[in-house]
Amino acid sequence: MTYASNGSSANHSLNSKHIILTSHQRGTTNAIPIQWGALDPRERGPIIGSLHNPKHRNVIGTHSGAYGVYRALAVASGVLSPTHKADLTDTSPVVPIGPYPSWGDPGKIVSLDPFGAIAGEVFAEVRSDPQSQGHEVFPTIAITRAHINIPELQDEIKQGRLTVDGEILKPDGSLVVTKAAIDPVWYLPGIAKRLNIDEWTLRRALFQQTGGMFPELVTRPDLHVFLPPIGGTTVYIIGDQAAITDPTKPLAVRVHDECNGSDVFGSDICTCRPYLVHGIEVCIQTAQEGGAGVIVYCRKEGRALGEVTKFLVYNARKRQEGGDRADAYFLRTECVAGVQDMRFQELMPDVLHWLGITKIDRLVSMSNMKYNAITNAGIAIGQRVPIPPELVPADAQVEIEAKKASGYYSEDEVLAAEALAQIKGRTY
Ligand SMILES: [Zn+2]
Repeated sequence: MTYASNGSSANHSLNSKHIILTSHQRGTTNAIPIQWGALDPRERGPIIGSLHNPKHRNVIGTHSGAYGVYRALAVASGVLSPTHKADLTDTSPVVPIGPYPSWGDPGKIVSLDPFGAIAGEVFAEVRSDPQSQGHEVFPTIAITRAHINIPELQDEIKQGRLTVDGEILKPDGSLVVTKAAIDPVWYLPGIAKRLNIDEWTLRRALFQQTGGMFPELVTRPDLHVFLPPIGGTTVYIIGDQAAITDPTKPLAVRVHDECNGSDVFGSDICTCRPYLVHGIEVCIQTAQEGGAGVIVYCRKEGRALGEVTKFLVYNARKRQEGGDRADAYFLRTECVAGVQDMRFQELMPDVLHWLGITKIDRLVSMSNMKYNAITNAGIAIGQRVPIPPELVPADAQVEIEAKKASGYYSEDEVLAAEALAQIKGRTY
């Protein structure tokens, strides 16, 4: 095998003799152009991150970006054919979502492909075109249906706080949902504009901060769409999906950022799982009133700093002089990570625009950053629903009081510095 002298991108087969670089455009290309923001998907063009045919590529990066390395292991170890083409038979959405006017506004959606769920159908001809040996179109969104069973909901039913209706909430306590998984698709000029920076500054930082993982970011200014190697978003819809966009029907929304420690394993150091479950409860109640509820789950573990940083911060908090306390809560994160938060909520409202949401009656969140991002995106918010005090675990008092003091929405009194220092967590 021979290697080219610079750049680092894909070859189409392990068996081929040379590496084909994608860092520079060579010869003719028959890539289909992308007109970001066009309301007609055919005019907009498909997203093609083909690894088989570099000449078809019209984006930087690969599909399911966060899992590209596992795909590489599967190919390298011989268990996956590098030329495997997905069979999309029967994979289309169980319910249609959109199109909505927001899909045709290049400023409203910049971090996902609004046509991601219907790409398989809309571009079926492009996929099967024999002249171009078939462009590789792969959905970036999948929509399915599920019954979910959450122990807390069964307790709520027993306590009479939730009512079984037989359709949304079943007698055995299971909840019927429609759910959508969304992979990120970034339109770089739009992302840059959203963050008030220029596109070159964004491209350069993405290239450098990934250790030079995607040379095209700096060598291919003609490619404007990037499939970043990060986690995506999952949407859970509760109740009548049509009610989401009906201005006469109530809508509840919780936008929740991943917290593996609490969401899955029930850690008592934060409020994440209890607040998530409360969000689901409010969504069920709103759906039972004839409206709908939407839970948006973003894979941004530990304020998008990652779980290693998060656990380091836990240790720093517990071991600092004076112990874990609310007045030093954000400081300890900043000491380890350099920032308090890396979530960039500015990109979060895209998923709400994808769902066609124009107003939220009940936002189950106390985050001022989420509130500001949603209202700045032109979506009106009625009521803000804080976490009920009885749901806050004992050791999470430090977090909740620190957040309230920093500007999070609260219906009760915000503690002054002295009182804040008195809110203490466990040692270990
Ligand atoms: Zn948490």
